[in-house]
Amino acid sequence: MPSPQLRMLLFPAAIGLLALSASAQVSAINSPDGKPLSQRVVAYWIDAKLDTSAKTLDATEIVEYRNPSDQPVSTIPFHLYLNAFRPQSTFARESHENGTDIPHAKAEQGAIEINSIAAEGYGDLAQSMRFTAPDDGNRDDHTVMEITLPKPLLPTEAIRFHIAFHDKFPISVARNGYKRDFIMGAQWFPKVGVLWHGAWNCHQYHNDTEFFSDFGTYNVNLTLPERYVVGASGIQTGEQPNSDGTRTLSFRGEDIHDFAWAASPHFQVVDDTFDNSLGTVKLHALILASHANQSDRYLSVLKQSMQKFDEWYGPYPYKQITLIDPEPDSEFGGMEYPTLITGGTDWWQPSWVYYGLEVTVAHEFGHQYWYGMVATNEFEEPWLDEGINSYSEEKVMGSLFGQNTSVVNARRLYGSDAETLRMFYLARPDEDPIVRQGWKFVNDMSYGCIVYGKTATVLATLEAVLGEDTLRQALRTYFVRYRFTHPTGTDFLQTLVEVSGRTDLEPYFTQAIYGTDVLDYSVDSLTSGPVDWWEGKSAEGPFQTSVTLRRKGTFLFPVKLEVGFEDGSKEQVAWDGKDRWTRFSWDKPSRAVYAQIDPDQNVLLDVNSFNNSYTLRSDPTARLKLTNYWVFTQQLLAQWLSFLV
Ligand SMILES: [Zn+2]
Repeated sequence: MPSPQLRMLLFPAAIGLLALSASAQVSAINSPDGKPLSQRVVAYWIDAKLDTSAKTLDATEIVEYRNPSDQPVSTIPFHLYLNAFRPQSTFARESHENGTDIPHAKAEQGAIEINSIAAEGYGDLAQSMRFTAPDDGNRDDHTVMEITLPKPLLPTEAIRFHIAFHDKFPISVARNGYKRDFIMGAQWFPKVGVLWHGAWNCHQYHNDTEFFSDFGTYNVNLTLPERYVVGASGIQTGEQPNSDGTRTLSFRGEDIHDFAWAASPHFQVVDDTFDNSLGTVKLHALILASHANQSDRYLSVLKQSMQKFDEWYGPYPYKQITLIDPEPDSEFGGMEYPTLITGGTDWWQPSWVYYGLEVTVAHEFGHQYWYGMVATNEFEEPWLDEGINSYSEEKVMGSLFGQNTSVVNARRLYGSDAETLRMFYLARPDEDPIVRQGWKFVNDMSYGCIVYGKTATVLATLEAVLGEDTLRQALRTYFVRYRFTHPTGTDFLQTLVEVSGRTDLEPYFTQAIYGTDVLDYSVDSLTSGPVDWWEGKSAEGPFQTSVTLRRKGTFLFPVKLEVGFEDGSKEQVAWDGKDRWTRFSWDKPSRAVYAQIDPDQNVLLDVNSFNNSYTLRSDPTARLKLTNYWVFTQQLLAQWLSFLV
C-alpha cells in the first residue's frame, strides 16, 4: 500500500476540483440571500469511471468532514451500503425472514471495496478500518465501516479523507444495481455517518429501512461510454469527451444529503420549467424510449405536484428536479433521492388508473420535502418521512384528480388514494406502533401498513379534528422551521400542538402514534316504536327511539351520532366514547330510519365502518359500491406495498 504522501499524488483530478469549489459556493440552488441553505457539514468530490459491461465502477473520493459537535471524535463511521447485497448481510437475512431471497449468484451480488483510505494530517488509515454492526451484531454484515483516528478531530475542525473505492453493482434489487444496460447508481460511495445527539448515528442497511446523512455539497465526475444518457442529483456543470469513446459528465449538488444517478442508452430527455418565488426550477425527465408516450403524464403530474407543495408548504429551492423513468421489470421504480426521483409506468397503462404513474410521481416528489429537506432519521422514525409524505400524497392526488376518484376514475369504478392508504392500515392495524425503529417491525407487511397507511390515516383523522387549513398550516410551519435539519417526532408533534393551539391532543397521540390501540365504535341497536306500546297502536306516535352505541376497541375517541327520522328531521349527539357503551333515547312524532356514527365519515381510523350505521330500511346500493371498491383495493394492496418506498 502506498504512503499517504504518494496517495496524495494519485488524486490530481479531485484536488483540482477542490480548488474550484469553495464550500460556501451557491450554484445549484435558488438561494433567497445567496447563501447556503444548510450547515454543510460535509463535502464530497468523487471522480468515478464506470465499466458498463462489467457493471463495476472505480472511483477516487475526497470527503471533507467538519465536526459539528462540541466534543472531540476519534472514530468516524462510513456507510458502505452496496455490501448489503451479499447473502451474508443483515439485509439479506432480514429479506430471507420475510420470504424474499436476494439474488445471490456471484455475478448478481453487490459489493463496495475500499482500496485505500488516508486523511490529510492523519496519514494512512487503512489499518484502522473495521466493520461494525451497531444494530444486530452481525459480524458478516459489511455495510458500516469505522476508522479510528490517531488523534481526535476537535469541535469545528475539518478532516479531509482521500479514498479509493471499487463498486460492483448487483442485479436489480431494492432500488439499486443494474437491469440489462440500465444502471441505477444509488448508495454507491462511502458516506460519513451523522454525529447526532451526542453520538454517531450510522445504521446498517436493513430490509425495510431507508437512510440518514448530513447535508453538504457534492461534486461528482462520471466517466462512461458516450452512448449513455445520465440523470443525477444536483445540476450538470460540464461534459468532456474523451479519446477512448467515453465522456466525463460533471455534476454539482448543494445542500443535499445524498447523491444518486441513473444511466441508460435508451433515455430520451424531456425538459420543462417551473417558476416559484425563489426562481426557475428545471424539470429534467429521462424517459425510456419505449415509454415515450408517457412523457406528458410524467411532466404534467410532476409540475402539478410541485405547484401544490409550493402553495401548501413552501418553495422548492433547488435549480433542478430530475425524474428517472426506470427500466421495466426492475426494482428501480418509486424511489427518492435528493433532487432525483424515479417513477414507474408501463407502456399500456391506461390514463384512468392514476395509481402507477401519477401517485408514484406525487409521492416521490413529496419526499423532496419530507426526507430531502426535512431530513429526519429514516432508520429510527420512518413514519416522519413515509407517513407524512403519504398523507401529503393523498392530499395532492385528491386535489388534482378529485377526492373520491384520485386513483381510479372509470365510469363505474372509482377509488380514492386516501381510502387506499386506509386499506393498508386496515390490513395490519395493530401489529406495531407507528413510533418504532424501522428494522424492528414484525415484518414487511406491518412496516408498510403502519408506516405508510396508518400514519396517513392518523393524520387524515386529525385533519377532521383540527380542520384542513390548520393541519396544513402546521405542516407548513414544520417544514419551514425544520428544513435542512434533522428534527424528531417530538418536534413534529409539538409543532402540531403549537400551531393548532390544541393542548388536548396528547391522548390522541398516545393511542394513535405511540400505541397499538384499535378504534372501533359500533351502533349496536336501534329501536323505534310507539311510546304507548301497550295500546297496540303501532302506526301512531309519539315514538320512542333508542340507540345503543358500543366501544369495541381500546382506543378512546369522541363519537358523533346522527339519527334520522321518517319526517326528515335529524338529531345529533356527542359521546365522549370512554365507557364501553352508552344509550341515547328520544320521544319524537315520527319513527327513526337510521342511526349513524361519524356522519361526516371522517374518522378514518375507525377500523370497521360497516358497523357504524344501523338502518331500519334497507338500501342495497351503498353496499354494492363498497363491495366493488373493496375488491379493487385488495388487488392494489399487495402491489403497492412492494412498489412504493
Ligand atoms: Zn416513500
